[in-house]
Amino acid sequence: MGDRERNKKRLLELLQAAGTGNSHCADCGAADPDWASYKLGIFICLNCSGVHRNFPDISRVKSVRLDFWDDSTVEFMTHNGNLRVKAKYEARVPAFYYIPQANDCLVLKEQWIRAKYERQEFMADGKTISPPGNREGFLWKRGRDNAQFLRRKFVLLAREGLLKYYTKEEGKGPKAVISIRDLNATFETEKIGNPHGLQITYRREGHIRNLFVYHESGKEIVDWFNALRAARLQYLKTAFPELPESELVPLITRNYLKQGFMEKTGPKQREPFKKRWFALDPQERRLLYYKNPLDAFEQGQVFLGSNEQGYDVYEDLPKGIRGNRWKAGLTIITPERRFVFTCPSEKEQREWLESFQDVLSRPLTPLNLLAASTEGSHGRR
Ligand SMILES: [Zn+2]
Repeated sequence: MGDRERNKKRLLELLQAAGTGNSHCADCGAADPDWASYKLGIFICLNCSGVHRNFPDISRVKSVRLDFWDDSTVEFMTHNGNLRVKAKYEARVPAFYYIPQANDCLVLKEQWIRAKYERQEFMADGKTISPPGNREGFLWKRGRDNAQFLRRKFVLLAREGLLKYYTKEEGKGPKAVISIRDLNATFETEKIGNPHGLQITYRREGHIRNLFVYHESGKEIVDWFNALRAARLQYLKTAFPELPESELVPLITRNYLKQGFMEKTGPKQREPFKKRWFALDPQERRLLYYKNPLDAFEQGQVFLGSNEQGYDVYEDLPKGIRGNRWKAGLTIITPERRFVFTCPSEKEQREWLESFQDVLSRPLTPLNLLAASTEGSHGRR
């Protein structure tokens, strides 16, 4: 066996070696990475390798399988590896900081990788990190009644737990004052049609208001996102002083478990099926539906309790009910009524079914119970 083959074999073994963390991308956690930064000594996925290519002073990438590896580089990879390098570059990631996963959008991964290695924000001996606190700046916000994005001033007051935005730079009062208590933020780049698109939601009069914003700079929009997260964590610590930080972190912001078009009929199930955009919020246990994906308010919402409370989901339509164009049916049973949907494909049907089953099988948290008792349930609008 030549050097080339021998070194490739050593690398492939190293990818699987116990206790190294090499079997998952060092930056986004994707399984079976087959690229590596041979300057940092980590194994990364193809997507993350694309980000590393942008700062060659700090990182250089090679394919594990396709490129040539000499003895000393393989030696270097053996002495480093994902867990060891993580200990160095992720020594003190603030609790509020969003660490992206494999399925997150590129801007989150890119800023995480740059913050880690290029700006070295989280190294033990790095600069002192002060919590973001207050923040002021301009974001492009999608108009409520038209698709136009307009430049709006946003002001985050972390201590007061408020986010405000203004329609005019020298305007009198803010257009909206949003409580951090009810706020969520989630990157929705595809839906918004912008690689930096962020969806901010908050409660208003029993409904969920959506704001769609972006900034030209990836760093700016991710800094905004993490500033909102820092303010949320601060609020959660005050609201739930008895809970440890580790239990609060998952509550800071949340992503939808699934989104997409389905058709639904009304409460009598004789109404014609209408195409709606659905978004499943797993933490608040809500299925929200909209006429259009970028509507400011939902048209209606379905609260999803637990299987123990009599909620259930079935992979078909009730007898005698036929969909419109789509045949792949789903029926959700709640104590009050049943909801009947059709999905555009069997793949979508399976994904929705699994997502609903996931939420229904979770027991209600004290937070769910608190929300249900203070707010009541809201029907169609
Ligand atoms: Zn990755």
